[in-house]
Parts: sequence; structure tokens; C-alpha cells
Amino acid sequence: MWTFAAAMSTDAPHGADREDPVEGDNGRLKRISHWIGGQVVAGTSGKRGPVFNPATGEQTGDVDLASAAEVDAAVETAAGAFREWRAASLSQRTTVLFAFRDLLDRHRDDLAAIITSEHGKVLSDAKGEVARGIENVEFACGVPHLLKGGFSEQPSRGVDVYSIRQPLGVVAGITPFNFPAMVPMWMFANAIACGNTFILKPSEKDPSPSLLFADLWRQAGLPDGVFSVVQGSRDAVDRLLDHPDVAALSFVGSTPVARHIYETGTRNGKRVQALGGAKNHMVVLPDADIDAAADAAVSAGYGSAGERCMAISTVVAVGDIGERLVEAIAARIPAVKVGAGDNPTSEMGPLVTREHRDKVAAYLEDQSLGGARLVVDGRSNTPDSDGFFLGPSLVDRVKPGSPVYDDEIFGPVLSVVRVDTFDEAIRLVNDNQYGNGVAIFTRDGGSARKFQFEVQVGMVGVNVPIPVPVAYYSFGGWKASLFGDTHMYGPDGIHFYTRTKVVTSRWPEPGPSRVDLAFPSNST
Ligand code: NAD
Repeated sequence: MWTFAAAMSTDAPHGADREDPVEGDNGRLKRISHWIGGQVVAGTSGKRGPVFNPATGEQTGDVDLASAAEVDAAVETAAGAFREWRAASLSQRTTVLFAFRDLLDRHRDDLAAIITSEHGKVLSDAKGEVARGIENVEFACGVPHLLKGGFSEQPSRGVDVYSIRQPLGVVAGITPFNFPAMVPMWMFANAIACGNTFILKPSEKDPSPSLLFADLWRQAGLPDGVFSVVQGSRDAVDRLLDHPDVAALSFVGSTPVARHIYETGTRNGKRVQALGGAKNHMVVLPDADIDAAADAAVSAGYGSAGERCMAISTVVAVGDIGERLVEAIAARIPAVKVGAGDNPTSEMGPLVTREHRDKVAAYLEDQSLGGARLVVDGRSNTPDSDGFFLGPSLVDRVKPGSPVYDDEIFGPVLSVVRVDTFDEAIRLVNDNQYGNGVAIFTRDGGSARKFQFEVQVGMVGVNVPIPVPVAYYSFGGWKASLFGDTHMYGPDGIHFYTRTKVVTSRWPEPGPSRVDLAFPSNST
């Protein structure tokens, strides 16, 4: 079992240093610090943020919030480590990656428990997040193949041309609260495999998985400085955006921040991929299997309490299916077990913070509903607890132009929009500012094909409600859901974290003759 105490037991200076106590800290709070140069480093900015257990409402920790100077220290360490790491052989890199993958496998339950304790999602969901994240590490283990370039013999007499992919240098990842393990793995596995050094700035709401990752990288044999963690919020991000030695930034979070990261980072000459928010529609045609559609709507709408960027937030009922579909969804909601994430019987946990829960609940007020009908009110379905709970809600006859339709709510509120025709459904999806994920439920192949051809969304599911691509494709939305040219992980991830060089060569003389009977080695 991995513990904070073990991670903090490196030599000073480290997180056990309590010189800068937080008001109200009676010693029960764990302190979550940075990881720089292969060890935990206590923050010196004097600023910290609270970390809660969302299921109880209690503060369980406080996280250091890095100053610009602390970010500079991490970048300097990462820049120093880059010189060696980019020169490491592919064999050496994959040895570390395979060891890291095995350690992750052994620590799946530890990671999931940490996620549940700070994010709130139920343990089974946290384990699913970890599993999907590990798939990205497995993809990165194939980096020798992925980095192969092209070769053209004899484009001109005695001339050869070949292309190679080289790492960028120090790259940073800024990640959201809702996948504190999977999204960092989307980024750092490929970045490090390609020979970059990586600085993770996790969400300050659930920062602890980052330190378990750091400890496992160390155990896997990754040289110090190749993976760093700076905890923090806006100040830390602003410094990463400005720092001249940060070559590239990967961001996942809300659309306003994604836009800011993309605009500022590219203005500062950095390569940037910034994934933003979402409002995912599930179009249900009249010929769909109604039970399968209702099951999918409930699972994808309320799983992880709706705090997934690929959650279904809007069901689009086409033609005469609306009445039966709303009935079928409503009938399933009372069976959804809302409770603490570490209770094995719970299916839906709390929201991440009290403020977020209250913000989501406000969408159930009349002024946000804009005349829509509140079929199931989740405010009356919460366990007896101080945790940040809100039960699943269902809203019918929702209209574009009302806040409940227009805004990304990011909670367990499922809207149903009724339309008369399939074309109207496609228009509705295409008019939405977001284009992350979308699904169609139908038995008709022709309709499904028309849908995938016309819909303006980056990831499409056909009778699949949450079409998150597997690790050997790439993940990314369109429109306000992604700023930049490359999607994340998979082949696009390899492209993002490398730049190509094309070499044109002529060798007028043969090389000197030499005999070497040693077995060829590539281990250094
Ligand atoms: P967020 O935008 O509030 O925060 C994301 C990260 O940015 C965090 O690390 C945070 O510390 C930092 N940050 C916040 N405000 C900042 C600012 N003003 N300047 C600089 N940095 C800032 O997002 P969140 O609430 O943590 O996550 C939920 C959001 O992420 C939702 O909108 C969700 O749709 C989106 N999301 C998108 C995807 C995707 O793949 N498109 C995946 C997961 C989450």
C-alpha cells in the first residue's frame, strides 16, 4: 500500500516541514507539496489551498500553491535533465516505461483510493479511470516503433534523404480535477517516451495522484528531473505560460481557461494543445432500442456525477419517441444508489466541492429551466451527510437559449430536447458551441452513416454513449472543445511532443574498413 508518509520520507527539504502552518490546521491535515529533482519539495510561497473529502465535506489536506520562483526551479531542473534524457537510448527509455507500467498495475487500487478520497467518484469508476490511463502508458511502451522516420534512397545520385523525430525539451501539462490520474497519463506517457522532460501542474482540488505517479516513476528508474510536479493554481500556470524554457503546453480543462492558455502560450512562441469544455448530445431516433437508449442515457448522464467531459448532458428525442424515452429514463433514476465513493454499493458519488454542487443545483431553479419541466429533482435525493451530494435530475422539454441547455453544467443534470426530425437533431448538435462527443442511437445503418458524415463533433458514438477513443487513436473535440491543431494521446500525442528534422546526405567516399566481432548492443 502506497502512503503519503512513504513519499514524504525522502531527505529534507520535504513536505513534513511544517514551518508555514495553515490556519485551523491541527496536524490532521496532510500536506501536498511539489516534486522536483526526484524528491518532495515543500512549498515556500506561503500560499496553500484546501483539499476536501467530498463524501464527508471535511478538509483532509492542504496543497502548496507554487509561486513563479518555484515554477522556475522546476523548469531549471527539467531543462538540466533534458540533456541526458534526450540522449538516452530507446531501449533505456522503454525499460523505464515497462517498469513504470508494471508499478502502475500493482498500484491500481492505491491510485483509485486516492482519487475517490479527493474527487469523490465511486471506486469502480476510479479503477476504470486508472485502467484507461494505463492504456496510454502501454501505447507509449511502443515508442521505438512510433518514432520511426522515413527514408528515401537515391532521390538524386549518391544522395539519401531521411526524416527523424526529436523531442521538444521541457514540456508542461495542466490538468483538470475530473480525471486526476487518466488525463495526466494522456500527456506524460508520450511526452517522456519521446525524450522530453515533463512538468505536471495538477488540479489543486485533487492533487495527490501526482505524487504517487512521481514516486512510481522514481521506482521505475526514471532519472531525477525528467518528471516534476508543481502544485498550484493560476500563478503557477501563468509562469509556465511565460517561461522561455517551456517549449510546449498541454492543457485540459474548461473552455475559457483553454482559450486563455492557447492564446497566451502561442503568443509566447510555444506549441499548445488546449482541450476545453463540452455539452454532449445523445440523439435517439424513433427506431432505437428504447431500453438500450435509456440505460445508456442514465449511465452516461449520471456516471461520475456528470463530471466527465464526455458525459451525456442532453438527450435529443426525435419524432414520437420522446414520451416513452422520458418515462424509461425517469423509471431508472430511483434505482441509482447515491453515496460515498468508498462504499461498494454506491453507484454515484458526491460532486467535487460544495461550491460546485451549489452551482449545479442552481440550474434546477425556474430561472435556469426557462419553462422546461423538472421531471426528477435530485435535490431531494441525497444521503444524510455533510458531503457535497446532489442526486440525479431529469429535465424535459428543454429549449436552446435557456441556461440549462446552453451552459456546461458538469453535474448530474440530464436534459431532454424534443425535435420533430432527424435533420433538426443534427442542426441542433451542429449549432452548439461545443463539439467534444456525440452519440446516435438507432438500428438503421444509413441514418448512422449520415450522422457521422454530417455531425460537427470530434468523437462520435454509434449506439455507444461515451465514445472515448482507445489509446492508439487520439482524443479531441472540435469547435470550443479544442484549441490547437493536434488531438491528445495516440499518434497525435507523438506528433505533438516531437518535431521532425529532414536530413539530406551525400557520402562521396566509402568509410574506413573495420572488423568488430562483438554482439551489437543498444543498451546505452
Ligand atoms: P478548470 O479550467 O477550472 O481548471 C483546469 C486547470 O486549469 C486546473 O489545473 C486549474 O488549476 C487551472 N486553472 C483554472 N483557472 C485558471 C486560470 N484562470 N488561469 C490559469 N489556469 C487556471 O477546469 P476544471 O474545473 O478543473 O475541470 C472541468 C472542466 O474540464 C470542464 O469544463 C470539462 O469539460 C473540462 N474537461 C475537458 C476535457 C476534454 O478532453 N475536452 C477532459 C476533462 C475535462
